[in-house]
Amino acid sequence: MKRATLFLTLVLVFSLFAFGGIIDTIKARGYLVMGTNATFPPFEFVDAKNEVVGFDIDLARAVAKKLGVTLRVIDFAFDGLIPALQADKFDIIFAGMTITEKRKEVVLFSDPYFDAGQVIVVRKGYKHFDDVDELTNEKVAVQTGTTGDLMATEVPGIILTRFPHFTEALMELSLRRVNAVVIDSSTGEAYIKFNPNLEVGSPILSAESYGAAIKKGNEELLNFVNQVLKELKTSPYDALLDAWF
Ligand code: GLN
Repeated sequence: MKRATLFLTLVLVFSLFAFGGIIDTIKARGYLVMGTNATFPPFEFVDAKNEVVGFDIDLARAVAKKLGVTLRVIDFAFDGLIPALQADKFDIIFAGMTITEKRKEVVLFSDPYFDAGQVIVVRKGYKHFDDVDELTNEKVAVQTGTTGDLMATEVPGIILTRFPHFTEALMELSLRRVNAVVIDSSTGEAYIKFNPNLEVGSPILSAESYGAAIKKGNEELLNFVNQVLKELKTSPYDALLDAWF
């Protein structure tokens, strides 16, 4: 009898462990796995020490710290991030990923943590574009599966080449094989800093917000991430005001 009780207890403890929520799983594992595409400065890029660094990495690290675990970063092709999340290759995507209705059909998004929009980057002095439709008959490069790709794909008569990484799209531009790249504003600006032959050749053409993506069903992690984002957004002074008034 005693043996049976012990056995049942062990089964119960084991199943609690095995079927516990996503947060228990991450804590037991000891690290949070983040998926990203590290050609998106200043959100994620590879530094001189060959480490993936950036704003998104620091956000994910804050989540990991709050969970009491370390952070592991997996660098992936951008258009493979959501399928890999669905296949449990990571717990979370931080990739400057725009919250869109289409993506919301397949993943959960955290509260927005950054506002951005698409711009057209060109070689200095090439042309100025007031609207994305003016890219008709232009050779343009984008990163596959991005909102910039979706926007450019809609333009009739555009001559579009898709690349797995933004670095390749911008290289094509510098090499004069294409004349424009559609890219997120802050990332476009970051690339221009390192490529003085390039410039932003348009106003900001869309209004987008970035969110962290989490697998459907993992609402527990979603709430946790939103809580961490909220705490990060609140200055210590605001927190004091909240606490006392
Ligand atoms: N914000 C864009 C998107 O979500 C691009 C993100 C990226 O290339 N990392 O599609």
